[in-house]
Amino acid sequence: MSADNNPEVNRLRVLCVDDEELVLDVIQGILATRGIFEVVRESQARHALERLDNGEQFELLISDLNMPGMDGIEFLRHLAAREFAGGIAIISGVERRTLDVVDSLARAHNLNFLGALQKPITGDSIRKLMDDFQRFASASAIGGAAEVVHVNVAEIRAGMDGGQFDVMFQPKVSVKTRKVVGAEALVRWLHPTHGLLTPESFVPVAEEGGVIHDLTGIVCACVVNAVAPWSDADKDVNISFNAAVDDLDDIMLPEFVVETAAAAGLPPTNLTLEVTESQVMHGLVRILDTLARLRLKGVSLAIDDFGTGFSSLEQLKRCPFTEMKIDKAFVTGAATDGASHAILESSIDLARKLDMHVVAEGVESQEDWDLIADLGCDEAQGYFVAQPMAAEDFPEWRASWEERL
Ligand code: C2E
Ligand code: CA
Ligand code: CA
Repeated sequence: MSADNNPEVNRLRVLCVDDEELVLDVIQGILATRGIFEVVRESQARHALERLDNGEQFELLISDLNMPGMDGIEFLRHLAAREFAGGIAIISGVERRTLDVVDSLARAHNLNFLGALQKPITGDSIRKLMDDFQRFASASAIGGAAEVVHVNVAEIRAGMDGGQFDVMFQPKVSVKTRKVVGAEALVRWLHPTHGLLTPESFVPVAEEGGVIHDLTGIVCACVVNAVAPWSDADKDVNISFNAAVDDLDDIMLPEFVVETAAAAGLPPTNLTLEVTESQVMHGLVRILDTLARLRLKGVSLAIDDFGTGFSSLEQLKRCPFTEMKIDKAFVTGAATDGASHAILESSIDLARKLDMHVVAEGVESQEDWDLIADLGCDEAQGYFVAQPMAAEDFPEWRASWEERL
């Protein structure tokens, strides 16, 4: 269906941000010929953000990259902080490479980046953008883009008391041998009215509301219960779990983790704690003590979402990390994306130099797999291998995966 005949598209609200009035005139004019009249214009990103803060809703945002005041890159960061869920297009006269970087950044921020409109703007480029928007909008409608449900701390507490949290496991496989070497525990909330919720709906709320400690304790207990019935061979894979930075402030965490795991017959050397790169960069000194003690007890440490947190070489050298998990933004589709490819390659190189083991996240296709194999990545995690699954399904999945080797 073309965008023009679609009543949904005709009702859509578009926010256009550019410091050049003429560019705004052209875009508004072309959109009007396609039946889109709800176009709000702003000459500065700051004013556009004020509209969002006042609760205005936009399904599509078209913004210039080079603007006086707040530039387009900074604007993207602020949009990510506000969890802007609409489609985003950039207007730009810059070269392909810079646009690739903007694309990677937007993906790393979990924004819905639709592409760039090259200046001068033409009817054709707007038509292509609206087709892309249409695809994005229908994918969201069928659940392609996860909906973030808003919950509060009281509900999380009630959910914890009610035993509504559980973990799923996503396998990690060796790129060389294809054998299953580990599994990451990912928390889920079986919410009585919203259904199965993923962490983005409640982990940030739990962190802000000061209940992340309790949630992490519950996740550890769930992991232990979940793997208890596994055979010794299945328990022998490495189990990774995620910690929030506040967890690492707790000096008793190393003892707690090791003791809880021992109760399930898991030695500390079979455990990996994942901490995101941005958490590490914000509080390295604070958490170094806990990280070092976990390492001393034999727990492996992974730096998660690598590539999104801008850590320096100096900081990395000071951390006792044994594993680098490269963020999916630089893995999924990297074969055809020059900037991601470059970031992936240099991250792997860096991990090698720092003697870390490298895991690529978000391996979704054969092309992604072939590229990381080529670049010498150690392990792969992603939908190409398997989606996160219930603990009881893991042994059977593993047997059938390894049967095909
Ligand atoms: P993460 O640690 O980066 O975990 C990987 C996320 O990527 C998971 O999302 C997983 O389902 C998803 N994923 C796996 N393979 C693919 C793929 O091929 N393509 C794409 N697009 N996505 C893939 P999930 O389960 O929604 O978790 C989101 C984040 O929530 C996690 O990101 C982690 O940072 C956090 N999290 C998960 N469990 C816990 C927990 O127990 N405690 C804390 N504090 N945070 C947690
Ligand atoms: Ca993780
Ligand atoms: Ca990650």
